[in-house]
Amino acid sequence: MKVAVIGCTHAGTAAIVNTAKLYPDAEITVYERNDNISFLSCGIALYVGGLVKDAAGLFYSSPEKLAGLGVNTRMLHEVIKVDTDRKILQVRRMEDGETFEDAYDKLIVTTGSWPIVPKLEGIDLEHVLLAKNYSHSNLIIEKAQHANHITVVGAGYIGVELVEAFQANGKQVTLIDSEERVLNKYLDAEFSDKIEEAFRKKGIQLALGQTVESFQGQNGKVSRVITDKGEIETDLVILCIGFRPNTELMKGQVDMLPNGAIIVNKYMQTSKKDVFAAGDSCSVHYNPTGKNAYIPLATNAVRMGTLVARNLVTPTTEYLGTQGTSGLKIYHLNIASTGLTEGACKEERLNVDSVTITDHYRPEFMPSSESVTLKVVFDKDSRRMVGAQIISEAELTQSMNTLSVCIQNRMTIDQLAFVDFFFQPHYNKPWNFLNSAGLAALPEIKAPEPAHV
Ligand SMILES: Cc1cc2nc3c(=O)[nH]c(=O)nc-3n(C[C@H](O)[C@H](O)[C@H](O)COP(=O)(O)OP(=O)(O)OC[C@H]3O[C@@H](n4cnc5c(N)ncnc54)[C@H](O)[C@@H]3O)c2cc1C
Repeated sequence: MKVAVIGCTHAGTAAIVNTAKLYPDAEITVYERNDNISFLSCGIALYVGGLVKDAAGLFYSSPEKLAGLGVNTRMLHEVIKVDTDRKILQVRRMEDGETFEDAYDKLIVTTGSWPIVPKLEGIDLEHVLLAKNYSHSNLIIEKAQHANHITVVGAGYIGVELVEAFQANGKQVTLIDSEERVLNKYLDAEFSDKIEEAFRKKGIQLALGQTVESFQGQNGKVSRVITDKGEIETDLVILCIGFRPNTELMKGQVDMLPNGAIIVNKYMQTSKKDVFAAGDSCSVHYNPTGKNAYIPLATNAVRMGTLVARNLVTPTTEYLGTQGTSGLKIYHLNIASTGLTEGACKEERLNVDSVTITDHYRPEFMPSSESVTLKVVFDKDSRRMVGAQIISEAELTQSMNTLSVCIQNRMTIDQLAFVDFFFQPHYNKPWNFLNSAGLAALPEIKAPEPAHV
């Protein structure tokens, strides 16, 4: 069996390693246009901020490691055309521009995503940078050295992590977003307010509710960002306004969502026989709504890549779908969320209710007992949980993984009240705060009317 893989970051690496183990006789070739494989973009902010000193730690595989599994890794090779009828790839060797064809029996598309770059005046100026891959992160580090003021456009999790990293390195920082709140996709206002407050205390300028209209420059380098509400003098701009699936190659050959995300079934099969896809190039089944959604995360990528391998020959192992669970640390705040926010539910016109509790996470007699705020969003009629958010100075983010499981298994908020969680004063109270949220949401029991004699 000849297996061709396009792209070798998280989804690609997971698919390759597992395919090599499961089918030792398979002839596997991976084409990757970068000069590296398996880069952990998740470490970019830590690398830029200086917490990760050795960039080698940001890679977990290499062509040598894959060769040990019998895999042929072709870096600096771009797949420029795919013919899924003839099962042929056209590949360009980037070093000399030579092109050649390669045939496959099974194709794995793990071409990932690319940052959204709006067509704005001045977007091509020097010092307007992206944050996606290893070379981007090195360029950011190099350019930031000489910058006094840095503007980050986009207050999603990548933007806010970079803002913290730049501020910690002594830069003046402005964060722009056209939404009124930071992290608005992940958190409701009670939570994002706390992060904004932490940013303001550190002197970070928040330009929220402002849309970037153009960039102006001097000597070819960006020097000013123009928004619909004002101007910001700056030395460096990092664009973090989101990602789009990198799937031009497959247009017209496999079914896609309107944004270009490849639609796969629960076995990671595309609409074309023998073509599989995984990771940021795909849509995922989003359990809270039961619909396909575009949620580019490394967690989805490694799971889907692994499933491609398990299902490559015979449909064997089903994808469970996702809640888009994610976590974040900004200064002293540990934040995590899973599923839908209340705001997102309103946009989806879902009839939901929510419960929010704030408590000390462990007994007050302990030497410290930080406060935790937890919100759980649930469907008003079925009482099924659809989302949750947590924030605390204590590290309690794993509880969102617990709630992710609950949502996946369609549990109700009332069941959460009485789920068995352990108690130990080092860690929690007799009622774990997750139980407490369920208890707070329990409907009242009406006493029966006194009988009339
Ligand atoms: C700054 C940052 C921080 C992040 N933090 C987190 C986090 O904390 N947690 C989390 O879960 N996720 C995080 N993510 C998201 C995560 O990195 C992505 O979801 C993940 O990288 C997706 O993996 P992938 O393999 O599907 O795609 P990609 O990482 O996009 O990789 C696709 C690969 O395909 C190659 N390729 C594409 N087209 C071709 C072609 N035609 N020929 C040859 N090669 C091709 C590309 O060069 C690339 O290497 C972060 C992302 C960024 C940018």
